Amino acid sequence: MIKESTLKTELSDKQFEVAAGDYFIHTVKAGEIIRITDLYGNQAADTLFYNADDPSERYSAMDTVREQGNIYLSTGSVLKTNENRDLLEIVADTCGRHDTVGGACATESNTVRYDLEKRCMHACRDSWMLAIQEHEELGLNKDDITHNINFFMNVPVTETGGLSFEDGISAPGKYVELRALMNSIVLLSNCPQLNNPCNGYNPTPVAIHIWHN
Ligand SMILES: [Zn+2]
Repeated sequence: MIKESTLKTELSDKQFEVAAGDYFIHTVKAGEIIRITDLYGNQAADTLFYNADDPSERYSAMDTVREQGNIYLSTGSVLKTNENRDLLEIVADTCGRHDTVGGACATESNTVRYDLEKRCMHACRDSWMLAIQEHEELGLNKDDITHNINFFMNVPVTETGGLSFEDGISAPGKYVELRALMNSIVLLSNCPQLNNPCNGYNPTPVAIHIWHN
């Protein structure tokens, strides 16, 4: 559901720009609001969330889908953890639909889906692995890289129950805004994928804004 936010970016407490193919890792406290903006359109932001006080508790796609009875995410979606607790809630969304079924790109999936020669291409999983290595203080390890949300990504389920990666429904300036319901680590890979239309074959930066209580 499309819902605009009343918050003004010029009054936000923190601002970041995440370059195409780069990662963003940050802890938001319970009650804080984080907005992700697709600055140039058609850019997938592959994102993982964790309980910052115990990262073994993390975002769970299956618990979220089951509890809300919908495979797509938008305003009102409560992101559930693997312990079925509330992690964050989408409180505004001008894109209207986000995927949590398609998973993230990896060198392995690029090889299987596209070509053996694609193995050397940079992928979201690489960015996440680099992030947890460069931020050991957060206590994340390889086991914690699990299912994710693909913000702004259009992955419709077909009539026969398959998935297809389609051109985006997002556009320049579209955003999604979440309120943290517990202290949460946000780990975002600004997807570098060039083998399907999820980034319009041209990965571009996303913006992050955070508002404190
Ligand atoms: Zn990716």
